[in-house]
Amino acid sequence: MRDFTLSKYRELLEAIRSTDYVTSTVHDYLVSPQDHCIILRHDVDRAVDCNLAMARLEASYDIRSTYYFRHVKDVFIPDAIQEIAGLGHEVGFHYEVMDKAKGDVQKALEIFREELDDLRRYAEVTTACMHGNPFASWSNRDLWKDHDFRDFGLIGEPYFSIDYSKVLYLTDTGRTWADRNIRVKDVLETPEDCLNANAGICKDIRTTDDVIALIKKEEVNRICILAHPNRWCDGMARWTRELVMQNLKNVGKAGIIKYRGMRSKGQ
Ligand SMILES: [Zn+2]
Repeated sequence: MRDFTLSKYRELLEAIRSTDYVTSTVHDYLVSPQDHCIILRHDVDRAVDCNLAMARLEASYDIRSTYYFRHVKDVFIPDAIQEIAGLGHEVGFHYEVMDKAKGDVQKALEIFREELDDLRRYAEVTTACMHGNPFASWSNRDLWKDHDFRDFGLIGEPYFSIDYSKVLYLTDTGRTWADRNIRVKDVLETPEDCLNANAGICKDIRTTDDVIALIKKEEVNRICILAHPNRWCDGMARWTRELVMQNLKNVGKAGIIKYRGMRSKGQ
C-alpha cells in the first residue's frame, strides 16, 4: 500500500485516537501545554483541495489541528479559510514576507501586517509560522531578529515558541519522515531534529507506519507532527505529479546542501 495518502493519514488518526494522547492545535499547546499530547500542524503551501480533504477527515475524528495559510493567489481562498476555521481547526498565517520584500525588513513588516489583517477578515489568527524557501538567500527567520511577532497580536511562532527539547518534532518534508539531508531551511536551529530525551528515537522512523508504531507505544510524551496535505492527496494522477515534483525539488535541495557543505569546509 502506498504511503502518504489520505487513507494512510486516516490510519495515523485512528492510531492517535486509540491512545491516551490528546491532540492539540499550536495555539492550544502554547496556551496550555498538555503532558501527553500530539500537536498537529499543517502548512497550506498549495493544493487547497487536499487541505480541505485532510481538514474534513480530522474533523470526522473530532481532531483539531492548525492550518498555516500562505498569502498567495492559489492558496488564499476565503471560502477554504472559512471552512477550515468552521470545522474547528486553527487558522494561522504562513508568511514568506522576507522573500516578497527581497530581504528588506521594513517592507517585509509592512507586508506582514497587511497580509495578516487580510487573513483575519476570515478567521481568528493568533499564531504564524514561516514558509521556508530553501532557494532564497535570506530567511524569514531574520524578520524577528529585532522585531517581535507579539506586536502583531500573535501569541506564538512554532519555530520559536515550542521547546523542541521537550517535544519530538516529526515532519513529512520530502515525503519521508526520516531524511535529514534534504532539509535546508525547513528545519530547526538545532542540528538534529531529535533532541535530548528523544535522541535515537527518530533514527528508526521513515514511513508513516513507523510513526504509527511510535504513537502506539506512547513512550514519547509530546510529539509535534508537521504534515503537508498536498503530499497526502489520494488520486493517482495528483500523487504521481506530487512525487515527480518532490523528486525534482529534492535534487535541487541536495545540491544546495552539498554546496554549503563544501563552503563550510572551505572548499
Ligand atoms: Zn510552507
